[in-house]
Amino acid sequence: MEQVFENKRDCCGCGACAHRCPDGAIAMEPDEEGFLYPVIRAERCMDCGLCQTICPFRKEDHWKNEQMPQFYVAKHRDGEVLRRSTSGGAFTALSDQVLDMGGAVYGAVFDSRFRVVHQRATGRAGRDRMRFSKYVQSDLGNCFCQVEQDLRQGKPVLFTGTPCQNAGLRAAMGPLAEQGPLVCCDLICYGVPSPRVWEAYKQLLEKSRGRRWQKCLSAPRNCPGAEATATAPFATARPTRGKARQTNGFTACFLKAERSCALPAGSAPLHRLAGLRI
Ligand SMILES: Cc1cc2nc3c(=O)[nH]c(=O)nc-3n(C[C@H](O)[C@H](O)[C@H](O)COP(=O)(O)OP(=O)(O)OC[C@H]3O[C@@H](n4cnc5c(N)ncnc54)[C@H](O)[C@@H]3O)c2cc1C
Ligand code: SF4
Ligand code: SF4
Ligand code: SF4
Repeated sequence: MEQVFENKRDCCGCGACAHRCPDGAIAMEPDEEGFLYPVIRAERCMDCGLCQTICPFRKEDHWKNEQMPQFYVAKHRDGEVLRRSTSGGAFTALSDQVLDMGGAVYGAVFDSRFRVVHQRATGRAGRDRMRFSKYVQSDLGNCFCQVEQDLRQGKPVLFTGTPCQNAGLRAAMGPLAEQGPLVCCDLICYGVPSPRVWEAYKQLLEKSRGRRWQKCLSAPRNCPGAEATATAPFATARPTRGKARQTNGFTACFLKAERSCALPAGSAPLHRLAGLRI
């Protein structure tokens, strides 16, 4: 087989096909825009077709759930948690429950080079790094393997990520997704900008200021007095909220983007395969 998908629009880069390929023939590689896509190494491929069979975007019922959901309004009681969360701290409340049960939490963090990657945490410190929306496609790395291992050992798992990453996880886990103690939690998602654009933006700022990045946070919404900043990479940078947020180069691009990921904007509300959305 040469390609898992016929059209790039039919692939979100979830990596489920790479995880399930029995011959390890698929690698996730960035395209010219910097988004991750599966690439088949022809010499290893046995043409079994499994990658296409399990791809969540090839079957609508793999990623769409048109049942009417139940809605709850929730806000964390702890003001400190609110200041350190994007939209009310539901993620912290949910993950606290799983950590208290001795489980593992998966989510997106900035690594030491401020790339956005998914990681596993079994303690509060690791979990806290997952707080805040990072508006970049997160690299799932070997998280699906780790989730599978946790589920096989009977460990409770909370997986958080975009709706398509959750659809990918379920496809990658197969029957284990239904049998194991797995809670899938996605987010309201407008799309994810390219890691390559993010990298270029970081380098541009470092060059113009002549300093290395020190920290990077996103602004909590509707939280006056919050200390976090929207994509302000330098410890001394002033917080960018409100109008300043619109004029922050990277955030403005994200907010104005008509198409910032593989699917057309506006399709995101349809995919609701995770049990929870925050
Ligand atoms: C890519 C992206 C697009 C979004 N689009 C919208 C939107 O269109 N409208 C809207 O109202 N809200 C949007 N959000 C915000 C999202 O709805 C809130 O982050 C969510 O409500 C969580 O709030 P919280 O306070 O509970 O979580 P927080 O404590 O802030 O936790 C953040 C959670 O987001 C996850 N996360 C962070 N960055 C990423 C990433 N790059 N990829 C995958 N998971 C990530 C973490 O794993 C964690 O579970 C978006 C967030 C992201 C990451
Ligand atoms: S399984 Fe995921 S990464 Fe693979 S082709 Fe389908 S959508 Fe793309
Ligand atoms: S057809 Fe089978 S062997 Fe080839 S890439 Fe797909 S899953 Fe792997
Ligand atoms: S809009 Fe969000 S959930 Fe939908 S494909 Fe794009 S990144 Fe994935």
